[in-house]
Amino acid sequence: MEALYDELNAAPLPMPACSMKKNGYHICIIGGGGTGGALAYDLALRGFSVTVLEKGELTSGTTGRHHGQLHCGARYAYGDRNIARECFEESVILSRIAGSCIEYNGGFFVALTDEEADFEKAFIEGCLESGIPARKVNKEKILAIEPRLGPVKTGVFVPDGTFDAFRLPMMFFSAAKLLGARIMPWHEVVGFDIANGRMQAVIARDLLAGGRELRIEADYVINASGAWAGKIGEMAGADIPVTPAPGAMLAVKGRLVDRVISRMRPPSDGDILVPQRGLTIIGSTQRVTDNPDGILPTEAEIEFLKAKAEEMIPGFTNLPVHAAWAAARPLAGSRKHKVGNTVESAVIEDVEGRSLSRDFMILDHAANDYIEGFATILGGKATVLRAMAEKTANFISSALHIESECRTASYSLPSWREYFRGGRS
Ligand SMILES: Cc1cc2nc3c(=O)[nH]c(=O)nc-3n(C[C@H](O)[C@H](O)[C@H](O)COP(=O)(O)OP(=O)(O)OC[C@H]3O[C@@H](n4cnc5c(N)ncnc54)[C@H](O)[C@@H]3O)c2cc1C
Repeated sequence: MEALYDELNAAPLPMPACSMKKNGYHICIIGGGGTGGALAYDLALRGFSVTVLEKGELTSGTTGRHHGQLHCGARYAYGDRNIARECFEESVILSRIAGSCIEYNGGFFVALTDEEADFEKAFIEGCLESGIPARKVNKEKILAIEPRLGPVKTGVFVPDGTFDAFRLPMMFFSAAKLLGARIMPWHEVVGFDIANGRMQAVIARDLLAGGRELRIEADYVINASGAWAGKIGEMAGADIPVTPAPGAMLAVKGRLVDRVISRMRPPSDGDILVPQRGLTIIGSTQRVTDNPDGILPTEAEIEFLKAKAEEMIPGFTNLPVHAAWAAARPLAGSRKHKVGNTVESAVIEDVEGRSLSRDFMILDHAANDYIEGFATILGGKATVLRAMAEKTANFISSALHIESECRTASYSLPSWREYFRGGRS
């Protein structure tokens, strides 16, 4: 824990001024979510010219709709220590470079059943082996700190937190814009110009100008369109194994807990409570779909989430609902079954969906689909957006035979407000 606080106290440097020396290469990023924003900043900081194309508002995809849990990695420590370790490292870095949009309050994993209590030892071991400073806490102490929790048997404190799902990515967009990146919301990618086995240009429609078509030439194109990645791949003739996996969340009015509360068991449905401002969010569910557009929570999902929250906080179901919504995870992996929308099938879906990887991958379409200058970044979590960008920018640099270094962990990000100063880009 001490090392963690040392790290947090090591103040990051201010971002360098915008007169970055350009390296002569232009990168086009498809998708204005957290992944696209972090990548635009990383590339701009390395001296690339960058264009981001987003078909809606920035963060209007999955990024603007998730719980906003800053994962310390404990949730994954039992199943995948590498993901857990990376989440922990990134949560510490984000707290340093983007502290203004983060509440670093910690979290409790609580056991409500004997089975969950039996899991405690393996859970703590998994956390410690992943470098996460987890600490057993007795039930009296937990209830003194979080008095609304119900029948807790035992629990573990972990360094989880929460962040503003909109402001965090917007801080990356602000930084990218200040470094000269061209950020183009309301520009939908509708095709590609591929000639002689090489990506030449992206074709986009300006949705605010009656669909006027633009051709954007680029030295490298990166598909960061999350759950839509498969659709973008189809336009280019590339095979992209992505499974859109919608999950529902529900927020009630009232901040019932101050820390993230998770059930002490391997990740499952309805097992996280996240405080966000004056609200409490319960999430989530998981199913799979062909189409990530216009996803809504089902009645069955809403009832299921309420019942799961009630197990953790007695009286939850009586509280006024603020909102219920859904978003699609861009899970990397191929879909096996099409399933329906009932709670029964949601449970089946859960087994299928959650067996797919939460890690991220970079797909090189030169190697897989014979299209030079084109790759896809897929999967991951919002907490690791900076790390995803770092690995993708390393990959692009190496594909273009350029030496460059990631510096995004060293500088504090400008305010999200900077993005909007001086009008829309
Ligand atoms: C229910 C749920 C809860 C989650 N909770 C958390 C959490 O608490 N903490 C956490 O760290 N992570 C969480 N996640 C994961 C996180 O939300 C995602 O990993 C992350 O938001 C993905 O960001 P992205 O930029 O890759 O995708 P997106 O935000 O979806 O961005 C892709 C963008 O591409 C755009 N696009 C698509 N097609 C085109 C086109 N043709 N032309 C131009 N643009 C296009 C879309 O409009 C979209 O804005 C959760 C996910 C879900 C589903």
